[in-house]
Amino acid sequence: MTEEYDLIAIGSGGAGLSAAITAAEAGKKVVILERLRVVGGASNFAKGLFAAQSHIQKQEGVDIDPDKVFLQHMEYTSYLTNARLVRAIIDKSADTIQWLDDRGTEFLGVPPLYPYAPRTWHTTKLEGRGITKGLQKHCEKLGVPIHFQIRAKKLIIEGGKVAGLICDDKEGNTVTYRSKTVVIGSGGFANDFDMMRKYTKCGEPTVQMAFGQVGKEGDGVKMAWEAGAAEEGVSVIQRGLAGVMKKKEVLKEAPKKSQFDKHITAILKQPTFWVNANGERFFNESEFSFAHIGNAMSKQPYQILFNMFDDDYRKFMETEGIQVGLGVFAPTGTKIPNVVEAIQSSIDRDEAWVCNTLEELCEKTGQNLEVLKASMDEYNDSCDKGHDALFAKSSEFMKPFRKAPFYAIKGHPTHVGSLGGIKINHKCEVIKKSSKTFLDVIPGLYAAGNVAGGMYSESYDASHTLGLTLAFAYNSGRIAGETAVAYVNKK
Ligand SMILES: Cc1cc2nc3c(=O)[nH]c(=O)nc-3n(C[C@H](O)[C@H](O)[C@H](O)COP(=O)(O)OP(=O)(O)OC[C@H]3O[C@@H](n4cnc5c(N)ncnc54)[C@H](O)[C@@H]3O)c2cc1C
Repeated sequence: MTEEYDLIAIGSGGAGLSAAITAAEAGKKVVILERLRVVGGASNFAKGLFAAQSHIQKQEGVDIDPDKVFLQHMEYTSYLTNARLVRAIIDKSADTIQWLDDRGTEFLGVPPLYPYAPRTWHTTKLEGRGITKGLQKHCEKLGVPIHFQIRAKKLIIEGGKVAGLICDDKEGNTVTYRSKTVVIGSGGFANDFDMMRKYTKCGEPTVQMAFGQVGKEGDGVKMAWEAGAAEEGVSVIQRGLAGVMKKKEVLKEAPKKSQFDKHITAILKQPTFWVNANGERFFNESEFSFAHIGNAMSKQPYQILFNMFDDDYRKFMETEGIQVGLGVFAPTGTKIPNVVEAIQSSIDRDEAWVCNTLEELCEKTGQNLEVLKASMDEYNDSCDKGHDALFAKSSEFMKPFRKAPFYAIKGHPTHVGSLGGIKINHKCEVIKKSSKTFLDVIPGLYAAGNVAGGMYSESYDASHTLGLTLAFAYNSGRIAGETAVAYVNKK
């Protein structure tokens, strides 16, 4: 007879690992199914997670008021989110930092990522991988097996309750797992372009660079919907910084590979003089939220921007350092030893330019010379006056674009995954499509992390709650594990 588990976690990212460990520590029989050959999913690539009132913040004298964070988040999302879920995540967040600390994570601190942002972003040694490796070791200690190269495909529902899963193994054979509960932690649908086109507002997915996304074909979301789950938050993506492209054929094929080089990425992030493909300014460059930059870019021709600076700003970055840090990679004030050298690989690929005249620059970038000149005159005038009457850019970042040679780097839209799809309540139970309340759930089914909706409305803004998506994965995973344990104990 097939053995029966108490809990199956689909996916070994933050959500799946924490659900599985929570249940195993409560004495339950648990297995993790992972589609890939390695543990961690996108959770390996994240740099830090949100918490309010953690022991790390207390050590650093940082006081984050959970009420304030909650109210800010609810206001930002226009109360279109699930307030009880949001509150449950914020309230558990400090305990989760301790929980991870006790299970092998080495925290480094809570550095500021953006100017003006509250210090909620807990960074770790080896980044996200440091957390998942620690938890993988902990699974070994607890005897929780991780079955690799198993792709969960369909839920088994018997008598209206979860009874297991049908999966494919690496040879494509069907494998059946029996279990009283299933926690879906399969991390969204960033690699399913049909879903991205149909549900999200990302724009054409082939012009987006998706960082850290492999094998995210929406399996978890699809199987939950097929089993009768309600839909929530399926349109949201987690936008990243504008990125530099490794390949030239940007608009032709799915540009999976982008270049992450800390210096050029840091330069691209600087609040210089940003214009669109036409040469028009379109944005307040001192707005640092990735979501807001990405949203604004998505409305521009080809969804691209040109980050432009002049020779004085080049010198400034070399001698004074960057004005806006790139997290732990290049903190604010980092001096770029040689800007031309830093952007040389992009110059070689026709993705960045150094030109002595605007005419030459426009010839190379394809911008309209008249439009660019007008944008430049208006911008320089604002710099001289110390007030940006167009977009109210913060005056500390108003540096003119005047002295040749002129530098331009093309920035492409990026994202790090879809956020949402399955409707859950604050206990991470999956709500039925037919339900009129938060109580009518599919018994034995839970969702956590990027597959679950209810946390975000239009966009995910990282500036007030830095690290919230990774924190959501670990906190909702723990909550899903606890709720599943209570369900198994009652049976
Ligand atoms: C480059 C990058 C940087 C980021 N930085 C941050 C940051 O600093 N702070 C922050 O808060 N967030 C950040 N994020 C976002 C954060 O990493 C995610 O929100 C979070 O990791 C999601 O966790 P998850 O467990 O839901 O999904 P994942 O960690 O992606 O795990 C899902 C797992 O499920 C597996 N899987 C998929 N389908 C199946 C299937 N059918 N069967 C079995 N297994 C399956 C996948 O292979 C994967 O291992 C970043 C993301 C990226 C990519």
